[in-house]
Amino acid sequence: QTATAADSNCLNSPWGEIQVGKETLTDYVFSDVEDWSDAPSVTCGASGRGYDYGMMRMMIDRCAGALAGHLKMAPGDRIGLILPNLPEFVVLIHGAMKAGLVVTFANPLYTADEVKRQFGDCNVKAIATIEMFMPVAQEVAKSLKDYKGTIWVGGEDDKGQGVYGLRSLLMADHQADLPTVDCEEVCLIPYSSGTTGMPKGVMLTHKNLVSNLKQTQCPKMMKYEGEKGKGDVLLTVPPFFHIYGFNGILNYNLKLGYHVVTMPRFTPDDYIKCLVEYQPTTLFVVPSLLAFLATHPSVKKEHLQWVETIMVGAAPTTDSMLEKFLLKVEKTKDEIKLLQGYGMTESSPVTLMTPYTYPYSKVGSVGQLVPSTQARIVSITTGEMLGPHKSGELWLRGPQVMKGYWKNEKATKETVDSEGWLHTGDVAYYDEEFYFYIVDRTKELIKVKGNQVSPTELENVIMERPEVADVAVVGVPDPLAGEVPKAFVVLKPKQKLTEKDIKDLVAQKLTRYKHLDGGVVFLESIPRNAAGKIMRNELKVLGMKKR
Ligand code: AMP
Repeated sequence: QTATAADSNCLNSPWGEIQVGKETLTDYVFSDVEDWSDAPSVTCGASGRGYDYGMMRMMIDRCAGALAGHLKMAPGDRIGLILPNLPEFVVLIHGAMKAGLVVTFANPLYTADEVKRQFGDCNVKAIATIEMFMPVAQEVAKSLKDYKGTIWVGGEDDKGQGVYGLRSLLMADHQADLPTVDCEEVCLIPYSSGTTGMPKGVMLTHKNLVSNLKQTQCPKMMKYEGEKGKGDVLLTVPPFFHIYGFNGILNYNLKLGYHVVTMPRFTPDDYIKCLVEYQPTTLFVVPSLLAFLATHPSVKKEHLQWVETIMVGAAPTTDSMLEKFLLKVEKTKDEIKLLQGYGMTESSPVTLMTPYTYPYSKVGSVGQLVPSTQARIVSITTGEMLGPHKSGELWLRGPQVMKGYWKNEKATKETVDSEGWLHTGDVAYYDEEFYFYIVDRTKELIKVKGNQVSPTELENVIMERPEVADVAVVGVPDPLAGEVPKAFVVLKPKQKLTEKDIKDLVAQKLTRYKHLDGGVVFLESIPRNAAGKIMRNELKVLGMKKR
């Protein structure tokens, strides 16, 4: 396939265009459900609890009725999920969307402060969580304005004080007049730090998310014609509270009628047990999980004998890791499809993907533009559009690009320009066949095992110590996690703090993957340019030396 340049100004997808109708995300994902209503939809690999597609659909409808009729949530109100990967995640999120609500989701391992910041920012009115995270949910609830209640997933009956058992809500079959939801309405606000600063709410509409499912399931590009609902099983670990897990994995596979097997928590033994028990044909992973499959001595090729397709996304992976995996399973690239995808929360998420049949020489590429998507590679020094094999900032445009950041016009304008180009902050190039390669990042973002870490968030926490005069946090390479955060700290005169003091401070305030596993270095001053901006590349180089 070759790309046709629309004009000399940008590249078009070689895979043509998709047509997007007016469906909401929930209606689109479950539009073929009659064809496989008795087939399993989502099963919890840890407990074996699961629902068929017909049951799932019914629970979604009842959840929508309960949210609107019993909790009195109005269209456009925000609901916050603090949930690990469970079958009920689907009930809650699609039930909420069916009721015209807007969902935001937090990592359940966040501290109460982290959740408060996010849920307060987008004014969440109801929460859904499980018993284990109820203390955090209750603390967060106290800080919310117009709070209407918490749904207790796994709870049979109501707990009182505004805590409703999901089961009792569904059993009661609350009736409500549900709104007609327009596909241009925002339905999801995941948080992303984008190119700079603190995490911001990313406003995604039904149309953004449906477009991206259509783009990534383009029959020509992905050879999905006639393959739907054929009994494929997906085993998945990447969290549904990240856009890759939610739209790129969960909705993607539900739309195809696959049996989705989830795990609330990853341990090597549980994962291997699920491989043997459910015999998955498809795995969607992040690079650190691919590394586990490729290198962990307990994972044997027999455990992966049913796997036909693996999709790797959300962070960079290496050619050598892909090859190690093929060596482990003793298969060639023609026998097992090893696909890669590239995306961002701000683009619902996928913009580049390897087509189903791509040549072996392209291993390591993140693929080609998905349909209805355009790209530019823009020189970082001159701002000119560059040709093949020249690295520059990747700009993208398409119907999957977000509506904007929640209540943050400044950041929106800095990220999506007036012509609709999303400035990704990633450095990439493409080859003669229009395959793209991600080579670097100009933005501040640190990716730890596929999770976003905003340096600003860590810097703000460290600056809370009165002894600290200045600080900068950057990512340094790590063989397992991809990158880990490292802090450079300047102390005020005559002040004393140790590396442990700084690490403990971050550990108290922020969730595990944000901790300073890259260490702390004390400096006389932080290198800044004339405009006062931290020169992070210099620190990255210094960080690699001072390990
Ligand atoms: P997020 O919004 O959390 O999905 O993070 C988006 C960022 O993750 C991108 O801008 C990239 O820096 C990085 N990323 C995602 N997918 C890939 C990939 N396949 N290869 C390299 N980097 C990736």
